Amino acid sequence: MAKIFCVANQKGGVGKTTTTVNLAAGLAKIGQRVLLVDLDPQGNATMGSGVDKRALAHTVYDVLLGECSVADAAVSAEAAGYQVLGANRELAGAEVELVELKQREKRLKAALALVDPHYDFVLIDCPPSLSLLTLNGLCAAHGVVVPMQCEYFALEGLTDLVNTIKQVHANLNPDLQIIGLLRVMFDPRITLQAQVSAQLKEHFGDKVFDSVIPRNVRLAEAPSYGLPGVVFDANARGSRAFVEFAREMVQRVQRM
Ligand code: ADP
Ligand code: MG
Repeated sequence: MAKIFCVANQKGGVGKTTTTVNLAAGLAKIGQRVLLVDLDPQGNATMGSGVDKRALAHTVYDVLLGECSVADAAVSAEAAGYQVLGANRELAGAEVELVELKQREKRLKAALALVDPHYDFVLIDCPPSLSLLTLNGLCAAHGVVVPMQCEYFALEGLTDLVNTIKQVHANLNPDLQIIGLLRVMFDPRITLQAQVSAQLKEHFGDKVFDSVIPRNVRLAEAPSYGLPGVVFDANARGSRAFVEFAREMVQRVQRM
């Protein structure tokens, strides 16, 4: 059975997409069968996997509206090593169209159930909002991976997300849990980051992943080559950290 994870944080620019594509590539590298679902109309995870969002015959939009299946819409990101259910600007309209539909929060869940046996992991890149799209991600998932930068407002920013996850857990998806907080773009030389990191450990204990993703320019450069950092430069510090993180995820899943 596939384990399904949302990568979510309602803030933009915190590293959600970088985490999704590199975790997907890291898991693929260690032999896992992975489907990446792009739920952000910006389509950055699609492009960052080497899939041209403008050339897609079908996207996650068609899947959410019930116009095609995941199997029909998913494409192979050859170089990255996993499959992609892509997104483009069209998806921005889904928010409005979904409101009218039955089971509007559970459409992705229903669609993914049909491809479950084909994957070990499904990773969902969420948009920077707590919208109906994100809600579809949260309803489909077993767990949420929360990437965060160790900055001053990091803990406050988490409150809304944690409350949303609690509500979804109580009302829509009893399976849902925060699988872990991932420290990203980390620079241990910055005292504040080390302090916030320690605070996170204090508050959230073993919900904080052991793996830490350093700030690393190779990870930022990779998308312009249409590749996850893990594939673009396997030896970069950031890439190695993501492969470590993939191993940690596999271990956590075994304990779920
Ligand atoms: P989000 O999806 O949350 O909006 P992104 O993953 O797109 O965030 O990251 C925002 C920016 O930060 C991007 O330009 C990305 O390349 C850069 N970035 C993300 N993680 C790292 C990292 N570990 N080191 C350096 N740059 C990073
Ligand atoms: Mg993003």
